[in-house]
Amino acid sequence: MESLINDSKLRLQSDFGCSSNEQQIIASAPGRVNLIGEHTDYNKGFVFPIALPLRTVVVGYPNNSDEIQAVSLVVDGKVRFNVSDIQTGDPFWGDYFKGVVAEFQKKTGKQVPGFNAVFNSNVPLGGGVSSSASMEVATATFLEALTGITLDPTEKALLCQAAEHNYPNNPCGIMDQFISVHGKADHALLIDCLNESSKLVNMPSSTICFFVINSNVKHKLSGENNPFAERQKSCFKAAEICGKDFLRSVTLEDLEKCKSKMDQETYNRALHGVEEDKRTLEAAEVLIKGDFNRFGELMNASHDSLRDLYEVSCPEVDELVEIARKTKGVYGSRITGGGFGGCTVTLIDRDAVESLKDAVNAHYSRTASFFDGTASDGAKIHSIAFN
Ligand code: ADP
Ligand code: MG
Repeated sequence: MESLINDSKLRLQSDFGCSSNEQQIIASAPGRVNLIGEHTDYNKGFVFPIALPLRTVVVGYPNNSDEIQAVSLVVDGKVRFNVSDIQTGDPFWGDYFKGVVAEFQKKTGKQVPGFNAVFNSNVPLGGGVSSSASMEVATATFLEALTGITLDPTEKALLCQAAEHNYPNNPCGIMDQFISVHGKADHALLIDCLNESSKLVNMPSSTICFFVINSNVKHKLSGENNPFAERQKSCFKAAEICGKDFLRSVTLEDLEKCKSKMDQETYNRALHGVEEDKRTLEAAEVLIKGDFNRFGELMNASHDSLRDLYEVSCPEVDELVEIARKTKGVYGSRITGGGFGGCTVTLIDRDAVESLKDAVNAHYSRTASFFDGTASDGAKIHSIAFN
């Protein structure tokens, strides 16, 4: 964290000539990994993520104008715009940031003062652990410090979600921004996506951890039919056939009763959604009790369902899951995130992590990368100049 901040300060000085620490505002927010509850958020179901010890930091200072200027240490291009005229455009990464400024102004009804800022991050970009939400939430937190306006935390997450919808144009669920705001060290967060409420669940032991492995593949999904939209449509259709507003309200009994009215694919997608909600609720309960064996079984069942019923896994990710499941000290392993590549999450004894890394390095057909999944804190203001 310290080097992320120090490197940002150096860049602030070299690009904008700011050397006075007194003027600087520093805020940060984490990336995340979802432990279980996949493809359930848009069905208003349950998700169970943790905030990762990987963060995006923003360091900046007011520049006594109506203009905002920003650079990033991890992506090229300078972002420059007037606070009263916020348009999408080049460089693309600026849209994530501009969106938050625009939504912040819309929400508070106040124009923010101009400032210069530097972004830095150790969250891998596009690696499936949500660098985008960490950047949005870091920005919103920076704006809170800049303006002295404190947002309700859930409103802050919703504002950042709206920013991602309206500027970079990604119709994401609420999970990533929600955990980036509400994450807490040593806790996972059970989120109810119907009413945006949540419950912190304490990690019962420091001898286990959730270890994240990036397959380093992202399959290009070509063709006119977007597989994510297709799956959403199947879930909505199944809910409608069962006479419910959302799949979250459909029981297994409802689904069996209506099975004859839907095609096999629609039934399979819906069965995943209904069972995944049950698994997620049970997972939160067994984690509280410290029943890691059962938690691992639920993770394994989640993966198998995502692979066979929801069909969002891929051979490389399946390979990583199989290697993990054969490793001593592993309780369970599954794909995490949207799918078709990306990361796996594995519940493992902390002292077995090195042997898992060795097994992956020896047997995975490509090169993987590894992230520590220690549950960490959500967004923070590190330094505030004035208000
Ligand atoms: P993910 O959220 O899984 O990492 P996304 O495709 O949703 O992947 O978001 C990644 C994009 O977010 C990057 O390509 C970049 O445009 C933007 N971004 C994230 N973090 C930063 C950062 N620190 N500086 C500049 N842009 C960033
Ligand atoms: Mg993202």
